[in-house]
Amino acid sequence: MADKFDVIVIGAGPGGYVAAIRAAQMGLKTACVEKWVNKEGKTVHGGTCLNVGCIPSKALLETSHKFVEARDHYAEIGIEVGEPKPNIEKMLAFKNSVINKNVGGISALFKANGVTAIDGTGKVVSSKEVEVTDHDGNSQTYSADNIVIAAGSVPVEIPPTPLTDDLIVTSTGALEFTEVPKRLGVIGAGVIGLELGSVWNRLGSEVTVLEAMDSFLPMVDTAVAKETQKLLKKQGLDIKLGARVTGSEVKDNEVVVKYADADGDQEMTFDKLIVCVGRRPYTKGVVADGVGVELDERGFIFVDDQCRTNVPGVYAIGDCVRGPMLAHKASEEGVMVADIIAGHKAEVNYDAIPSVIYTSPEVAWVGMTEQDAKAKGVEVKTGSFPFSANGRALANNAPEGMAKIIADAETDRILGVHIVSQHAGELIAQGVIAMEFGSSAEDLALTCYAHPSTSEAIHEAALAVDGHAIHMA
Ligand code: FAD
Repeated sequence: MADKFDVIVIGAGPGGYVAAIRAAQMGLKTACVEKWVNKEGKTVHGGTCLNVGCIPSKALLETSHKFVEARDHYAEIGIEVGEPKPNIEKMLAFKNSVINKNVGGISALFKANGVTAIDGTGKVVSSKEVEVTDHDGNSQTYSADNIVIAAGSVPVEIPPTPLTDDLIVTSTGALEFTEVPKRLGVIGAGVIGLELGSVWNRLGSEVTVLEAMDSFLPMVDTAVAKETQKLLKKQGLDIKLGARVTGSEVKDNEVVVKYADADGDQEMTFDKLIVCVGRRPYTKGVVADGVGVELDERGFIFVDDQCRTNVPGVYAIGDCVRGPMLAHKASEEGVMVADIIAGHKAEVNYDAIPSVIYTSPEVAWVGMTEQDAKAKGVEVKTGSFPFSANGRALANNAPEGMAKIIADAETDRILGVHIVSQHAGELIAQGVIAMEFGSSAEDLALTCYAHPSTSEAIHEAALAVDGHAIHMA
């Protein structure tokens, strides 16, 4: 038997690495086991988020956005740059350098906080033991008073479109295209599909997004979703709703996709196809039979509100448990669990977790939509404000979008904030803080905002809840 720890965390994604750092900061002897190896065979921390998720996608979104700004918008504001050309090799190199900096940062934080990093695949073999098999196949068992499973998730694959080496790929493959596909198909108009579709659309692909559902972004307030759909269409994303993919065939380096929509059976040919239909928990084999940790039929580990499994001392967090598959949700659960293990009271406010789609403009939301509220029988009042009436948005040459606040009709308490605009992902923090503090729309309306700032649109939306926006006729 090797070392004994207070806490062993399995998985070093944003759930696991944050849990490990926080536990160590609380004075607990902590280890974190990670199995992910990069192309050079080196163990890397950061999980999906840093290696093939949030961070690399945002690097490509930013570079492709800058390219479009230079190509389509610089001349409008008086900057002559000639004809810009994307250099995909350099863009990928930039993206990889961003990954490496972030991943290296986690290892440094582990060292600084005294977290023991263990390389290999972890398996819970009893409620107090984790067996780790290293990359050479050697196993060692470590004991711990507490175990945190943070094994994350992997992309869902669907039978009609089996993956190939480089023609039919998941989001991971779409972060590695070495040239711009002329015709790109994306299955799924969710967050990841829209982001990756946007990247390659901006760089020159003709992008078609096939979405089985009839509604666009049903989790976003309808007014904001409609505005987003209009703006993405204008940019050239062909989003086909109610299009259910039924099959595919790879022929002569092309992918023929069959789908059914309201008009019957259809077919489209693409040079690349990205399958973005969601992610599933990566929990197979992470707990030995007999330990008794309960999983549901889809592989999610059952946990209570504080991420306790049914086995005392074993916790699970992040993408491998219920709730939104988001890095910051995973991290918050990591902090909560570490604090609980350290003997503190802790909880996550699941009603105030923001979501962001990093298209251009960005879409960001927290809390209820107006339609959610109505469905639950909650009477609400709402206030909206267009960015075309915001001075800073006009000065930024980014007047698209709107902000909408949903407040309880009786108490005025803010129940949701939904935004589509440049930097909506930053603006949404105001809604999150307001909701975390139980603010009313009037609280925001009575707050002094810096001028000129795009945040003033949130102020105006709050004023509009009572019908008194200043800069709106
Ligand atoms: P992961 O990040 O998946 O980490 C789990 C880790 O556990 C992995 O490193 C894995 O190797 C390791 N592991 C698994 N099993 C074992 C084992 N048995 N032994 C040892 N190690 C193990 N979220 C956002 O909030 N914002 C975004 O902008 C965003 N963009 C995304 C873009 C893309 C393209 C994708 C794919 C995802 C994106 N996400 C985003 C989602 C985000 O990446 C996940 O929600 C987040 O990574 C979940 O964190 P986690 O720690 O639960 O799991």
